[in-house]
Amino acid sequence: MTSALPGAPALVARFGDVLLRHQATIRYLQWAMVAIYAILLAVPLLLPFPTHTDYLWNNAVRFAQFVFWGVWWPFIILATALVGRFWCGILCPEGALSEFASRRGAGRAIPAWMKWSGWPVVSFVSTTVYGQLTSIYQYPKPAALLLGGSTFAAIVIGARYGKAKRVWCRFLCPVNGVFGTVSKIAPLHFRVDPDSWRVGQQGRSNAVNCAPLIPIKTMQGAAACHMCGRCSGYRGAIRLSWRNPASDILHGSGRLATMWETVLIVPVLLGLVPAALHWSDSGVFQMIRLWLVERCLDLHLVWPLSQHLPWWMLTDYPLANDVMTPVDAFTLLTLLSISVAAATLMFGVPLAASAKILRMRGRFSHHIAQALIPLAAACLFSGLLSLTVSQLRSDGVVIPYSDPFRGGIVLAAAAWSVALVFQISAFYDTRLATRVCATLVMAVPITSFSVAWIAAFLS
Ligand code: SF4
Repeated sequence: MTSALPGAPALVARFGDVLLRHQATIRYLQWAMVAIYAILLAVPLLLPFPTHTDYLWNNAVRFAQFVFWGVWWPFIILATALVGRFWCGILCPEGALSEFASRRGAGRAIPAWMKWSGWPVVSFVSTTVYGQLTSIYQYPKPAALLLGGSTFAAIVIGARYGKAKRVWCRFLCPVNGVFGTVSKIAPLHFRVDPDSWRVGQQGRSNAVNCAPLIPIKTMQGAAACHMCGRCSGYRGAIRLSWRNPASDILHGSGRLATMWETVLIVPVLLGLVPAALHWSDSGVFQMIRLWLVERCLDLHLVWPLSQHLPWWMLTDYPLANDVMTPVDAFTLLTLLSISVAAATLMFGVPLAASAKILRMRGRFSHHIAQALIPLAAACLFSGLLSLTVSQLRSDGVVIPYSDPFRGGIVLAAAAWSVALVFQISAFYDTRLATRVCATLVMAVPITSFSVAWIAAFLS
């Protein structure tokens, strides 16, 4: 099965075929990941809290914390941007368990409510906020509850709906939307060649089980594809191929972008995420908190300042001197809301203005909002990398040049986003002056956001 598609380097296409031929090995790999995942989630629950003499190399709790939040999470985002969703199709323990349950499950039809396109936003926002309220990055119990609960839900959904499918991953997984968005800039994808599909003579023709339920024949881009390799060579029309990393945003799924995709990029990835990753160092958080404390004291309300709630509702670790009171939680929710509103205004107004300049009739510019994907991905990765850096630093390991590295990534992504706006504008107006004008309007918030974000993590 060599590449029949023009421009598809044979080596990459052959790697797709290797994935196809080694599905059994991939399954063993997935079970190994399930075992590692279960150990990392469960073992810290049985051990005492780390003290200041415990490090990630001599304490299992600290080690699990570092693996989950310092390695796993940021580098999956990076890998998704660089090579697509191989993580989902090959290594993700949750997807593997959901598909396993689905193979033996009831096989019911997928209910209409599950197909609501707002789930990727709602599930990501709710898990992000809940994770911050319970300090998921610091403590094993909320990590086990949130990640374990998500895995349990994935198994239950798998056991009820679809046959050998990943219904959970496709519709409800809290990070499905984020992975799909970030994968749009990956330079690798499984490319479908319509002409070869029509002829359909070369290559294999036995049916493909696409677990995330993609209509393969009409697949656009790589956002929903888990890169599992099962369709490699099908009808001689599908190959793992290199592509221009901007092509999906410019010519593919970017042109069909919806309101929910814009919501995920603008208020969520460029508003909620930076605040959720940075609130504990935020001066604004302290200001809001002080104001609320004073109002509570004025009103002789003591309980919001002292009430402890169970750890699964709000952070409650008095022995570690770490308790989140209702006033802290309210402050955090206020800060997150302000950040969401600020990002919506900061990017929403220029998006509407640039659409007007380009005379994009009767609709908000979801296509132009797709140009912000590199910036959103860089913001997420650089923010998560701060967890890696700070965890290592607290154990005495300093990564040299990590801050300039993160700053460089954000600036490069910002420049790419501006360039994408200019390229997208060509679809709507051919006049250079109009395109430059629309691009400049978007360059203002992109530049301001990048500078503010770099300043936040350098401070
Ligand atoms: S389209 Fe489906 S079968 Fe093909 S690689 Fe993607 S997830 Fe796998």
